[in-house]
Amino acid sequence: MTLALDSVLPATQAMYRRILDGVDAVRKLRHDIHAHPELAFEEFRTADRVASELADLGIAVHRGLAGTGVVGVLQAGRSLRAIGLRADMDALPIHEINHFDHASRYPGKMHACGHDGHTAMLLGAARYLAEHGDFDGTVYFIFQPAEEGSGGADVMIKDGLFERFPMQNVFGMHNWPGMAAGCFAVGSGPVMAAFSSFRIVICGRGCHAALPHLGADPLPVAAQLVLALQTIVSRNAHPLESAVLSVTTIQAGTATNVIADTCELTGTVRTFSQTMMSMIETRMSELASHICAAHAMRCDFEFTTGYPATINEPAAAELARQVMTGIVGDERVLVQQPTMGAEDFAYMLQRVPGCYVLIGSGDGEHRHTGHGEGPCTLHNASYDFNDDILALGIAYWVRLVETALNR
Ligand SMILES: [Zn+2]
Ligand SMILES: [Zn+2]
Repeated sequence: MTLALDSVLPATQAMYRRILDGVDAVRKLRHDIHAHPELAFEEFRTADRVASELADLGIAVHRGLAGTGVVGVLQAGRSLRAIGLRADMDALPIHEINHFDHASRYPGKMHACGHDGHTAMLLGAARYLAEHGDFDGTVYFIFQPAEEGSGGADVMIKDGLFERFPMQNVFGMHNWPGMAAGCFAVGSGPVMAAFSSFRIVICGRGCHAALPHLGADPLPVAAQLVLALQTIVSRNAHPLESAVLSVTTIQAGTATNVIADTCELTGTVRTFSQTMMSMIETRMSELASHICAAHAMRCDFEFTTGYPATINEPAAAELARQVMTGIVGDERVLVQQPTMGAEDFAYMLQRVPGCYVLIGSGDGEHRHTGHGEGPCTLHNASYDFNDDILALGIAYWVRLVETALNR
């Protein structure tokens, strides 16, 4: 059930009632996008849908940033102030196992992170603001491709997002399973981690497994290296600073009686600061080359930098918190605890001060009322965005614009 009128404070109920009047259309749009998921930089149908919805509202549409990115521009009054609101449009390479009517039509592709809901909520907010918005300034509705690992936000920025659409603040929002529907969370400073990935190939020399002295076995070296890498976080990192180093794959060998030529290790590193990330990269490289050298082996070491940390600017975070508090009250606005997950909205926050917040999507109860069964965690093959929170998400965007660009 959509969060009812009494989910918001009395002062917000007139706006919320209007949003509820239009929420059926937003739900249908969300289901349409969910049924037609598209992967990174291939969001052609989704972008067409977004652009035509914006054009129908009389909102100026700009296309082509990062290929499938769409920016809608809505201006009111004479103020030169401007803010950006960002939604992500891409889906994941997961095969959906739900059977409801709006389940994915495309095998192996699925909206398992709720970007269908994010896109629909931002379009819902665009409709409200175009029809009833009470603000003075410019709103940029930013629909970006490729959040899931490919850095679509970074590509939009390189394509001139902030030069073409100058703004004082930029805001993002993600649904969060496990947090009660009707709640928000916001934090100041770092809220999501930076990530990097690594690949280490230990180059030994294969031979008969019964005659190990004739070869150079990379497996005991890999085992030593995995354990040694764990000392970086426990022994080299500052005890009060967070870092994660996970070796996630080890590949070697083909048979029980063959010693492998090489062993490949891959994994990921998460930190909240570039200094910590650089320290870990250096120590990993040292441990890998020296442990291999100790066994008369060579190694290839690759370290690939991913998204930076997502860092909320304190004033923007305070604005977001006040807006949320005005909608649902103090006790339903939580402090967002930093997580080691990563988010490419971080690139936008590196360029323009702003804030990335979470909206609670509940404990999965919505899945027993017609949405299917199973857990509702992000990136799970049975996930579905919780339509019950669509109106509340729209209310946040609307009130954020009306507060940041107040008359
Ligand atoms: Zn995701
Ligand atoms: Zn996501």
